[in-house]
Amino acid sequence: MTVRVRIAPSPTGNLHIGTARTAVFNWLFARHCGGTFILRVEDTDTERSKPEYTQNILDGMQWLGLNWDEGPLFQSQRLDLYRQSIQTLLDNGSAYRCYTSNEELDTLRAAQEANHQAPRYDNRHRNLTPEQEAAFIAEGRRPVIRFKIDDDREITWLDLVRDEVTWKGSDLGGDMVISRAADEHELGQPLYNLAVVVDDIDMQITHIIRGEDHIANTAKQILLYEGLGVAVPTFAHTPLILSDEGKKLSKRDGVTSIDDFKHMGYIAPALVNYMMLLGWSSPDAEELFTLDVAAPQFDLDRVHKAGGKFDWDKLNWINSQYIHAMPAEQLLPELIPYWQAAGFKLDPEADRSWLLQLTSLIGASLARLDECVEISRVFFTDTVTLNEEAATKIAQPGAKEVLTSLLMAMQAKSDFTEIEAQELIKQVTKEQNVKKGVVMQSLRAALTGEVHGPDLIQSLLLLHQHHLAVPRIQQALG
Ligand code: GLU
Repeated sequence: MTVRVRIAPSPTGNLHIGTARTAVFNWLFARHCGGTFILRVEDTDTERSKPEYTQNILDGMQWLGLNWDEGPLFQSQRLDLYRQSIQTLLDNGSAYRCYTSNEELDTLRAAQEANHQAPRYDNRHRNLTPEQEAAFIAEGRRPVIRFKIDDDREITWLDLVRDEVTWKGSDLGGDMVISRAADEHELGQPLYNLAVVVDDIDMQITHIIRGEDHIANTAKQILLYEGLGVAVPTFAHTPLILSDEGKKLSKRDGVTSIDDFKHMGYIAPALVNYMMLLGWSSPDAEELFTLDVAAPQFDLDRVHKAGGKFDWDKLNWINSQYIHAMPAEQLLPELIPYWQAAGFKLDPEADRSWLLQLTSLIGASLARLDECVEISRVFFTDTVTLNEEAATKIAQPGAKEVLTSLLMAMQAKSDFTEIEAQELIKQVTKEQNVKKGVVMQSLRAALTGEVHGPDLIQSLLLLHQHHLAVPRIQQALG
């Protein structure tokens, strides 16, 4: 059997972290088995589906490196296929036209609520006589199509993550609408569960791997497979991603779309790595791996049953590991947009070698790309303001003399090598007869306005190359 899996996002919002994680698991499973990974866009909800969301989903999948083998297929272009299956279900007696009006449904629901019962359709139009149907049609009622769900049914499947799952027919809300209102001849807009099943059959999907929030849908869908006389595929329900409070991660938690993570400065392989760990662990307990490394080891047996709490510290740590491993040539183009968005003046071509040095200097301090703005601000601004601590360093005995000596040396020479700069510091320390710390502290304070920051010699060289070191020392000397 050739494994065929799919990811089936609904374009009613940007690519969500939960959908992306489901895509990751499907991708890994397909690659592990040498199978096919298909992308299907579930855009039958015409009111909420938007082309920009579809684009965002496709872009996000590509950015994450989740390449698909077939698709994207769009449900909106396949309505005839769904209607054929609805007709099959009508013809074989597993579905029927239901004329219950919205008012009648409201009354039913209100009565159930008053009796503290779960809302469900009472299947009242299951066995209408031709005369009753004709009377409803004469009243101008427009039927929906319902699929029969018997209360005494028990639906059981062997889930590759959750083992045996059983669902009662009586917990599925009565006969299910599979097509919206149409007239007595035509079929209306097909609904979600029906379209999913018809597509999964048509695309010969062998394994349906999706979030556990779809478990009740799975029970309904298994009945639809039976109704259509088709073998049921294998299901695997993956745990949900939970917020800090242990609830399903939702829009209210702020960051949920892949775009949000991207703009916050997470890089694609790190985010994918983190998503793999959210619900799966590798057999060798390794925590840093790419999709290609994980695929041969991926196994649904190692997918956890319990939900995975979203752990920002872990994500930041993974992201930092990937950033630190990036050579400056690769990291620089990732940082430039953040610097430009912050309004820093830079010429990516003319300043390339200076920018590469800056990238090497700060790269190892970054956990997220966006942090490059604050950490490198002093390299782009004309002047700096001394914070309180820095002002104390400049006021300490000997600092002014040290800075004056440094200033004179730097005015005399427009470029230093690292060794020359180190020599200069040594020489000034000796000349002024102060501790090296006084030289380093006063120089850092004058150059950056702060007492902490990246390597001082490298910072000095970069600032001096851009003619910023001399005026800052002058400014500090007042
Ligand atoms: N369109 C559904 C969703 O976005 C997924 C359906 C499925 O995987 O079967 O949640």
